Amino acid sequence: MTILDGKKTSNDIKSEIAISVKEIVAKGSRPPHLAAVIVGEDGASLTYVGSKVRACKRVGFESTLIKLSDKITESELLLKVKELNENNAIDGYIVQLPLPSHINSQKILMAVDPDKDVDGFHPTNFGKMALNLPTFISATPYGIMELLNRYNVETSGKHTVVIGRSDIVGRPVSILMSRKSNPGNSTVTLAHSRTKNIKELTLQADIIISALGTPDFVTKDMVKDGVVIVDVGITRVKDDSKKGYKIVGDVDFENVSKKSSYITPVPGGVGPMTIAMLLKNTLQAFLK
Ligand code: NAP
Repeated sequence: MTILDGKKTSNDIKSEIAISVKEIVAKGSRPPHLAAVIVGEDGASLTYVGSKVRACKRVGFESTLIKLSDKITESELLLKVKELNENNAIDGYIVQLPLPSHINSQKILMAVDPDKDVDGFHPTNFGKMALNLPTFISATPYGIMELLNRYNVETSGKHTVVIGRSDIVGRPVSILMSRKSNPGNSTVTLAHSRTKNIKELTLQADIIISALGTPDFVTKDMVKDGVVIVDVGITRVKDDSKKGYKIVGDVDFENVSKKSSYITPVPGGVGPMTIAMLLKNTLQAFLK
């Protein structure tokens, strides 16, 4: 069994990006610049955005954190988005989700200039991704593909079962795995909460990508020997530690890993890859 080590791989990617930034700056140019917009004080969102900003520093990017009150109106936020679209000193930016319920997230994401949409959420970029055209692929699915690629996991001709059909993980990764590309060329089944007999499907899977957010959902009786497991789930579970919680995935790692050929740990698997791929998209936005 091989651990798909997202922490190490993401560090490798960050080092590669840092080298590119040094070369860019040595040529007299400014470094790439990522901005992040956060609305409100949601603890998990602040943590995620904080680590994205720290990662920018580490690779030599400029970064700007724009913290806005949760009282901001939709039109005020749209104005902020317009400003960012027009700011030539910013190559790419993200609007951290979730947004407060009085703001229509779709409307905000649609207003982001697709050329600065390093999260790859805009329909233009999602469409290009589906058509196998060059674009920004959203960071989590991109990170999964990159991890499979760097570990040379064979995906061609394999049966991949994706659990979860969200716009940001399950659906895009199901498309990427089925694209005529490498990694890809997989036969994909996309399961969700209405799927009957998930176990029947997962037992046939060569690769399982689990993105639902339910601890211990994937158990050893649901997988065949030699399966490749990508666990995207991130759930905070209370414990006695100083933090008061630990992060767990969707997969019963201890038992499922014994039957797997490759498996991502949680934490340290897909999570760190997400940030690395956001940086990669930002570099791409700068180079455009
Ligand atoms: P989401 O929007 O809540 O989607 C969950 C999906 O799981 C939905 O499609 C849902 O089906 C499906 N589902 C729920 N219960 C199910 C069940 N019993 N059987 C089969 N399918 C079921 O979640 P998300 O944003 O994709 O995130 C999924 C997990 O990944 C979360 O734990 C999240 O924290 C984590 N995540 C991690 C990263 C990372 O960087 N590693 C990034 C993003 C998300 P329906 O569509 O029918 O409701």
